[in-house]
Amino acid sequence: MFGFSLIIVGFLGMEFFSWAIHKYLMHGVLWSIHKTHHRKQSGYFELNDLFSLFFGSVAILLIIFGFENLDYRFWIGCGITLYGFVYFVLHDILIHRRVKKWRRPAGYYLDGITQAHRAHHKSDQRDDSVSFGLLIVPRRYFKHNRSNK
Ligand SMILES: [Zn+2]
Ligand SMILES: [Zn+2]
Repeated sequence: MFGFSLIIVGFLGMEFFSWAIHKYLMHGVLWSIHKTHHRKQSGYFELNDLFSLFFGSVAILLIIFGFENLDYRFWIGCGITLYGFVYFVLHDILIHRRVKKWRRPAGYYLDGITQAHRAHHKSDQRDDSVSFGLLIVPRRYFKHNRSNK
């Protein structure tokens, strides 16, 4: 139970943590890196992918340091890893279609978070973006989204 609750803490913590980092740092002092995700450039990788590498490295270090005693670091590291995996599948593969073969299945939840993330991408400027979370987004994005596939 201890491990499982810490996985949830790591997972949900990442949604709130990455919301804050996205809103206050990536659309702030780190904009020069993050803007590569808002303004499409040629090539498969974006400088913005560094953020995924960074969070991935933090998770791996936590898992390594917590491995011997299976302490809280190990489980939180697992939660962050799980979040990274879910984020990659939803954000990179299904919303941005970085793997062209995979199509986004229709569904109430997936449609809602896709609408919210599209709203975030409407702007390519640092200061006028909305909706910085990925999994937890305002309810308004879940309405009227049948028409906009
Ligand atoms: Zn952004
Ligand atoms: Zn995006």
